[in-house]
Amino acid sequence: MVDVHGVHKSFGPLEVLRGVDLQVRAGQVTVILGPSGSGKSTLLRAINHLEKVNRGWVSIDGELIGYRRSGNKLHELKEKEVLKQRTNIGFVFQNFNLFPHLTVLENIVEAPVSALRRPRKEAEATALRLLDRVGLADRADTYPRRLSGGQQQRVAIARALALEPKVLLFDEPTSALDPELVGEVLDVIKDLAGSGTTMIVVTHEIGFAREVADTVLFMDGGVVVEQGPPAEVLDNPRQERTRTFLAKVL
Ligand code: ATP
Ligand code: MG
Repeated sequence: MVDVHGVHKSFGPLEVLRGVDLQVRAGQVTVILGPSGSGKSTLLRAINHLEKVNRGWVSIDGELIGYRRSGNKLHELKEKEVLKQRTNIGFVFQNFNLFPHLTVLENIVEAPVSALRRPRKEAEATALRLLDRVGLADRADTYPRRLSGGQQQRVAIARALALEPKVLLFDEPTSALDPELVGEVLDVIKDLAGSGTTMIVVTHEIGFAREVADTVLFMDGGVVVEQGPPAEVLDNPRQERTRTFLAKVL
């Protein structure tokens, strides 16, 4: 389970997260909605300690991320230990972020071999299986620039899965795609949801949220305004701010 507890984050005088709590149980999908600047990306980055929070903490399956507790004090972990923890937290970005000089297969194999010390042969077999899962088994030896945006994003998802993370974080995975390529990426994420992958997905795709999310969470101004099952938050929101936002995106 992912547990975000009382997280605050400021950039200078700008308070971006103002006490965020979030729990995602194993196998569940949480979709985060919210206007630009509400702190969605910062929250995802705080979860894997790419942003150091000012207050609060994040734990995954009971393990604090970025810190070690001794007594009632928190001590920051060394970078190497944080990198190790991050292998449990897959991250899929809006702009894919594939390594341009590596083939599709090499992109997927890189982290398991270098970070987890998996034997290359074994990592390649896993990568091929994952490519098959995202519908790209025949593209293993292609370079990213030869792929469409949708294909690149599916490779990025396979790459994240290769570390067998406990949770997958998606930051607007389809916002950079041409409209006709959005569906193929959402279908892959849906398939993962169906097989019990724990996920937190920031997206503006309301239809996807309705279909796939166990919980929809609406953020505004660095706080969680409301959260609940899609049928409540999307179809019967309690808060005026949620209604206003949905009226704009629907
Ligand atoms: P969007 O929908 O546009 O992606 P978001 O909800 O993801 O928005 P964040 O990217 O989390 O919002 O940013 C929240 C606020 O924090 C914004 O005002 C942004 O300018 C600011 N911010 C984010 N990162 C930094 C940083 N490294 N330094 C200073 N300000 C930052
Ligand atoms: Mg963002």
